[in-house]
Amino acid sequence: MPHKAPYSFLWLQAASCGGCSAAALGSDPSFLDGGTPRLNPLAHQAVSEECGAEFTQILNAVLDGGLVLDGLLVEGAVLNGPNGTGQFQMAPGMGRPMNRLIADLAEKARHVVAVGSCAAFGGVVAGLGSRTQAVGLQYDGGEAGGLLGAGWRSKSGLPVVNVAGCAPHPGWIVETLLLLADGALAPNDLDSFQRPSFFADHLAHHGCNRNEYYEYKASAHDPSQQGCLMENLGCRATQAPGDCNRRRWNGAGSCTNAGYACIACTVPGFASSADPFLETPKLAGIPVGLPVDMPKAWFVALAALSKSATPSRVRRNATESRIAVPPDSRSRKPK
Ligand code: SF4
Repeated sequence: MPHKAPYSFLWLQAASCGGCSAAALGSDPSFLDGGTPRLNPLAHQAVSEECGAEFTQILNAVLDGGLVLDGLLVEGAVLNGPNGTGQFQMAPGMGRPMNRLIADLAEKARHVVAVGSCAAFGGVVAGLGSRTQAVGLQYDGGEAGGLLGAGWRSKSGLPVVNVAGCAPHPGWIVETLLLLADGALAPNDLDSFQRPSFFADHLAHHGCNRNEYYEYKASAHDPSQQGCLMENLGCRATQAPGDCNRRRWNGAGSCTNAGYACIACTVPGFASSADPFLETPKLAGIPVGLPVDMPKAWFVALAALSKSATPSRVRRNATESRIAVPPDSRSRKPK
């Protein structure tokens, strides 16, 4: 059912670098200061005018039931350490661990949204060697559970909605909130990791400027070069859910467009891999991380065929930072 009153939401920062908030501030109009008519931001822990006692008053009003909370948004991983106490992160001014505060507020909200891969899965904070017992709201890496438990459901019946990404595209955050406000996000609209399918049903590879180089397996050796980043520079976009090469940042940018290989930041455990970013792990010269849906034998056969058919223009341009050889379009009329 569409929600008539503006959709009230509260944004908390758990163990976070603030990058998700920075991403959100790139939305236009800014939804964090009431610039989007259907959304009613009650408070954001970092950017709201309310701070100190004014901020905790809002939280207490929600906890007491005096203030209706539609969406609880949490940015950052939940720290359960040391020894499960959660005291590595205390809620400012409230004298209680953040993990308990989040769990209590989650019971009051119609929907709970994990903003970013730390809140969704533990992310960078739960990376290799972390001693913080960091988890996501409903996942611990790729395992269901996390702070709230695998079977937890919000008042609306939805599980935690995981707007994954490090940082997530601001459009993903705003679109998720507007869909929730309209009652237009059902369990079936989430993928197997509870990410909204409107962005998770795409791969970051879709729409990459380097697709012609990918087709011919014409690869860059340096990030400044134009070729595909998969073979040598660790691009994981053929395995990473996200429409970030179709819905560009600030209308224009993407990681691969800027010469930075996709690190699959929407995937659980992306920061826990022992493989360094920007390198392509290989076995017998074949990348270990192959495109989803593609049998290894097919990939190997197609890659060999593509390489043997690569036009010299594409091969040359792949290792240049600017077009060195333009397409020979002047001598031929399109049929
Ligand atoms: S650089 Fe990455 S996203 Fe772009 S075409 Fe190559 S594999 Fe796909």
